[in-house]
Amino acid sequence: GEALAVSARVAPLGSRLVLLLVEDLTEARRIEAVRRDFVANVSHELKTPVGALSLLSEAVMDASDEPDAVQRFAGRMQIEATRLTNLVQELIDLSRVQNDDPLEDAEPVRVDELVAEAVDRCRHQAGTKQITMATAIQDPRGAVRAGLHVWGNRGQLAAALGNLVENAVNYSPAHTRVGISARRISAPGGELIELAVTDQGIGISDRDKERIFERFYRVDPARSRATGGTGLGLAIVKHVVASHGGEVSVWSAEGQGSTFTLRLPEAGVARDRAARHPGLD
Ligand code: ADP
Repeated sequence: GEALAVSARVAPLGSRLVLLLVEDLTEARRIEAVRRDFVANVSHELKTPVGALSLLSEAVMDASDEPDAVQRFAGRMQIEATRLTNLVQELIDLSRVQNDDPLEDAEPVRVDELVAEAVDRCRHQAGTKQITMATAIQDPRGAVRAGLHVWGNRGQLAAALGNLVENAVNYSPAHTRVGISARRISAPGGELIELAVTDQGIGISDRDKERIFERFYRVDPARSRATGGTGLGLAIVKHVVASHGGEVSVWSAEGQGSTFTLRLPEAGVARDRAARHPGLD
């Protein structure tokens, strides 16, 4: 009787332990599968431009007595080389935001500077499509123009916002408007800075919305590649925001446009400075 009682007591515990082990294994296997997929994707993405470069260099050699053709092929080689450079750079950026703790050299970062940098980065591309870029940065202190500050790693925050603005321009038709706004909002855990990037572009379906933050996921790979996209931009955004204790969300209606919203912890400098130096401009 007693032996039975003991084994009855052990059994549920044992099975729970087995279940935990199985879950652990499943999780480990899932991580391993994600890693393998990632390596396969990287290899594929690298092979495409390298293959094109190799074909084009052969074409250049074959066409050595036709200067026009050589020019044309060389031009395309340059495009492929740029694509390769972008991809390698984004892979480096992604690995950096995944591995480095951004808060190790966190500082108050001026929102107006982040926005200006993101706009500058896309100015050329927007210009060729005659896309208007409009910024609206809240000035909550009126006379004290200390401005909004977020708390974090300047380079990573700039990369995140830059990617969103770049996408807004890339996935919008000519003669549309891209809006970038920033304001302070109150949340239970403290003040947040909300940065929103709005476009009047092609939009994203509900089904794709769930996947666009995955590495290498693109709704339309051909279109993404044509604009120099790597499929890594939003994965970088997601990691930066997560490691800063913020969040990113997306609203979109197909054919109408999208709004990507970042919420990041505010750096209190604006108010601290104002409190310490009243009247400081
Ligand atoms: P990519 O380098 O392809 O732009 P991202 O990770 O930045 O990669 O974005 C993933 C995909 O999400 C894009 O390929 C595109 O299909 C979609 N996407 C991102 N931003 C927008 C946007 N503003 N409007 C419409 N589609 C977008």
